[in-house]
Amino acid sequence: MDLLRKFLAENSHIQFAASDSPDFADLCSAFIINATKKPSLIVRPRSAEDISGLVSILTTNDIPFTIRGGGHDMFGRSQVDGAVTIDMREICHVHVDSASKTARVGGGIISMNLLKELEKHQMVTPHPVTPSVGYVGWAIHGGYGLLSTKYGLGVDQIVGATVVDANGNILEADERMLTVIRGGGGAVGVIVEVKTKIYPLDQVLAGAIIYQPSELVTGFRDFNTNFQQAKRDGFPPELGIYRFIMNGPTGKAQIVLFLWASSDISEGQKWLSTVSSWAPLGMSTVAPTTIAAFNEVTNSMVPKIAYGTIHAPIFRSLTPEVVDVIGKHALLQPNNPEVLFGIHELRADAPMSSNGSIFNARQAHVLIEIIPITGSLDTLYETMAWGQNFNDALLATDAANRLSCSYIPLNPTRDLEFKGIYGSQYETLREIKTELDPDNKFKHALVQL
Ligand SMILES: Cc1cc2nc3c(=O)[nH]c(=O)nc-3n(C[C@H](O)[C@H](O)[C@H](O)COP(=O)(O)OP(=O)(O)OC[C@H]3O[C@@H](n4cnc5c(N)ncnc54)[C@H](O)[C@@H]3O)c2cc1C
Repeated sequence: MDLLRKFLAENSHIQFAASDSPDFADLCSAFIINATKKPSLIVRPRSAEDISGLVSILTTNDIPFTIRGGGHDMFGRSQVDGAVTIDMREICHVHVDSASKTARVGGGIISMNLLKELEKHQMVTPHPVTPSVGYVGWAIHGGYGLLSTKYGLGVDQIVGATVVDANGNILEADERMLTVIRGGGGAVGVIVEVKTKIYPLDQVLAGAIIYQPSELVTGFRDFNTNFQQAKRDGFPPELGIYRFIMNGPTGKAQIVLFLWASSDISEGQKWLSTVSSWAPLGMSTVAPTTIAAFNEVTNSMVPKIAYGTIHAPIFRSLTPEVVDVIGKHALLQPNNPEVLFGIHELRADAPMSSNGSIFNARQAHVLIEIIPITGSLDTLYETMAWGQNFNDALLATDAANRLSCSYIPLNPTRDLEFKGIYGSQYETLREIKTELDPDNKFKHALVQL
C-alpha cells in the first residue's frame, strides 16, 4: 500500500478516498446497500495512463482490487471488503463520430449521460431500461434493453475498446480480445473506453401504459396471449416492450414501457392502440418524445439505492403454467414501493452483430426479474421471502421450458456455471484469459473461471 500511496502523492490529479475521508461513504454508495463492503481505498483515475500506473502497482504487489462503474451490480461485486476500488466514473467522455456512426465512450459513464450526449447529435444507442446503470458494465455482460429488438444487445454494439491489461499495458483490443469483452466483461482487463455503434433517431413514441390494477391477474394473462399471437403474426422490430408489475397509489399494476423507435410516429400510434387494448387500460403516458427524455422518466421510477437482491430465471417463453405462477405471486407482492417484477425479452428476430462474441444466449427467450428490494430494513425479510418463494415456484415449472444459461450480472457468483453459460465459447474464453491474465489478477471480475 505504501507504493500505491506514493504513486497517488506523485499524481495528485488522481482523487482518492480512504475510510476516514469525508466523501468515502458517498463514493462507496451503490445500488444495493451493503455496509459490510468497505474498500481499503477508492481511487478515481482520469485516463488510461492513470489506470496503467495503478494496475501495475496493484498487480505487482498483489493488492486485491475491483473495477467499479455505475455501481449497479445487484450483488455489490464491484466493491470488496479490504480491496482497492478503481472507480471509473471520472472517465466519462463521449466522442461522437457521426460519419462512421460510432462513439468512443468512457469506461465509467452512466447510461443516462451517454443518451443525453448522443441526443445532441440526434443519435441513440441501445441502453439499459434503467439508465442509472453504468453503460460499459451493462454492455460488456450482455445488455438487454428496449432498443435490442431493433439494434441488438449491448454486446453487439461494441466495435472497439481500449483496455489496460494485468501488466498495466494500454492496448487497443484486437478482434480476439473484443470477442471476450463482448460477454466476458472485465475478465481480461480494465476497459478504459469502448467504441460503440450509434444510430440516427431524433424522435420516438414512448412512455408507460398502465393497465387496470383491479384486473392484474387476468390482465397479465390476456396481455400475454395477445402478445404471443402478435409475435406469431409479425411484430415490428421498432417496438420494444418491457413489462413489469409495480406497486402504485391505486394498487399493484401491470405496466408496459412502450418504445416505438422510428420517426414514423403514425405507424407507432397504431401499435400503441393495439398494445393498449391487450388488457383493461388504466392510463397511458405514451407520447412523441426523445430517447433521453423518455429515459429521464424511467429513471425516476426506480429507487437510487435499496436493500435486497434479484432472482433472474430464463425461460424459452411465458407458457400458461409460468403465467399462472406469475399471477399468483404478483398478488402476494409486498406493498413497499420499491419491489418489482419485470420481464426482459430477446425476440427471435433481434439483430445480432456479425462480430465475434462469447455471449451465448441467442435463441428467443424471456429473462424474468424478480426484484425483492426495499428502502427499509423493516420490510426486508418479508420482501426477500416473497422473492425466494416466487423464484422457487417458477423453477418448479416444466424444466423443458428453461434455458440452461444464466445472465451473469443478475445471478450470485456461487450459482454461475460458466461452462453452461458460454457453451462452445467457453474454451475460447479460457484460452484468451490464460493468455492475457494467466495469474488471474482480475479475480474480482464477474466472470471467474
Ligand atoms: C436498477 C437496475 C436496472 C438494471 N437494468 C438492466 C437492464 O435493463 N438490462 C440489463 O441487461 N441489465 C440491467 N441491469 C444489470 C446491469 O446491467 C449490470 O448489473 C451491470 O453490470 C451494472 O453495471 P454498473 O457499471 O452499473 O455496475 P458496477 O457494479 O459498477 O459494475 C459491475 C461489474 O462490471 C464490471 N465493470 C464495470 N465497468 C467496467 C470497466 N470499465 N472495465 C472493466 N470492468 C467493468 C466490473 O467487473 C464490475 O464488478 C440492471 C441493474 C440494476 C441495479
